[in-house]
Amino acid sequence: MNFKDLPISALMDITSRPELVFTEGHGSWLTDHNGRTYLDFVQGWAVNALGHSPKEITEALAAQAPRLVTPSPAFYNLPAIELARLLTSKSCFQRVFFANTGAEANEGAIKLARKWGKKNKNGAYEIITTVGSFHGRTIATMSASGKPGWDTMFAPQVPGFPKATLNDLASVEALITDKTVGIMLEPVQGEGGVNPATPEFMRGLRELCDRHRLLLICDEVQTGVGRLGTLFGYQHYGVEPDIMTLGKGIGGGVPLAALLAKEAVAVFEHGDQGGTYNGNPLMCAVGIAVLGAVANPAFLAHVVEAGAHLASRLTALSKELDLGDERGVGLLRAIELKAEIGAKVVGMARDNLADQPGWTNRGLLLNSPRPAVLRFMPALNVTLGEIDLMIDGLRIAIGLARK
Ligand SMILES: *Cc1c(COP(=O)(O)O)cnc(C)c1O
Repeated sequence: MNFKDLPISALMDITSRPELVFTEGHGSWLTDHNGRTYLDFVQGWAVNALGHSPKEITEALAAQAPRLVTPSPAFYNLPAIELARLLTSKSCFQRVFFANTGAEANEGAIKLARKWGKKNKNGAYEIITTVGSFHGRTIATMSASGKPGWDTMFAPQVPGFPKATLNDLASVEALITDKTVGIMLEPVQGEGGVNPATPEFMRGLRELCDRHRLLLICDEVQTGVGRLGTLFGYQHYGVEPDIMTLGKGIGGGVPLAALLAKEAVAVFEHGDQGGTYNGNPLMCAVGIAVLGAVANPAFLAHVVEAGAHLASRLTALSKELDLGDERGVGLLRAIELKAEIGAKVVGMARDNLADQPGWTNRGLLLNSPRPAVLRFMPALNVTLGEIDLMIDGLRIAIGLARK
């Protein structure tokens, strides 16, 4: 396959992409159109919990697809019933609404909180979010996000999302008024560069919410489903939210997301919420398979072990190469480069390792969410050997980028 011959101009040009076409993926490895393989520490942006094309997913799709794909969300189907049962049995929530993307699940969370405010709090509708947060790319979730520059893109914004500072409880408290209905945050900011909430901050938020009768909303699109070494991120903190959203990992690579709520908060009435593909059996069958694998205590213990291994190898590399701090929880980690060479390191790791010892016809996929930060979000079943190989490639790529 020759890249130059592909009619790529038929696609909207929404981001700068490398001149590569990925044709296959297995576990932690991707293959491009030239047959070069890549060790993947991006995994569809922390999506492929079980790696590329795991048998759990291919088997679930093959079993469900010939049986029933979409009866309509206005009818019950067995996989949706079973996945909701599984999610509620393993979390502090009693009700689930399925969606297709993280942004859509967050839209649902915002609607649910506003509805609850209308019924219980005199029409309070404001949701306090944090600077540096990312909640999605719809107009409302962009407005909720605290990403620099997003306040003026596609203006006017949806009002009602005052921004506080992560890990600064006083900054949250200062924004609470009689219009406030809730506080929404990612337990670990993902796109913002892997910024974990501190346990004290999470406990403080819960207390604030209880004192002011506000809803605590955890956007666990990135932190949920094993990423932090617990099945859900809030369990790592020991703080129960009132509403939680899931996306990314819950589908293990297919479009599936969920909005979960405590019984008392699940106040949608008929007609308030829906969606053509929501809770379709094909995607829910995959969710059951992914959750079945990830919820296994031995699997979660592996995430903790692999996360600790990745952290210690990154810390050692930081000392060796004079990099900055390493941070993160479980298998969502980042390292400071102390120079704005993130994009260069990503490019070198992808394109320039193939003539290095041990990397013949191979590359490494990394992500740089900010100019001087690298983020690591491998498959949750990544092996310690794959982590060691990544460190080796990273060392070479940083050397090349500094030249
Ligand atoms: C990726 C992400 C989203 C958006 O999910 P989409 O499926 O891309 O809509 C929302 N919140 C967080 C924390 C995310 O990481």
